[in-house]
Amino acid sequence: MPTKYPQEPHIWCPQCRWRPQATDRWICTPGCGASWNTFWTRGLCPVCTHQWEVTQCIACQAVSPHRDWYHWPQPGDAARDSQENVSTTPGS
Ligand SMILES: [Zn+2]
Ligand SMILES: [Zn+2]
Repeated sequence: MPTKYPQEPHIWCPQCRWRPQATDRWICTPGCGASWNTFWTRGLCPVCTHQWEVTQCIACQAVSPHRDWYHWPQPGDAARDSQENVSTTPGS
């Protein structure tokens, strides 16, 4: 697990490119009903510790895999928007 990144990831909705703010909150539902900023914990509910694999956009209501919200800046990567690595990680 890398401990450092050269740059911070850009976080925005893969559907509508809405950018969440620090004041935005997500609700753990169905679940414990906790309200928190899911990007502070990478989708982990701080109350019931449920790991959310998907995150709903507050702006467009689309549900996308949580990891798809993170966009790492890469040189010469301007045209590569929707082509995410769709391979899934086995386990868990
Ligand atoms: Zn959206
Ligand atoms: Zn919860």
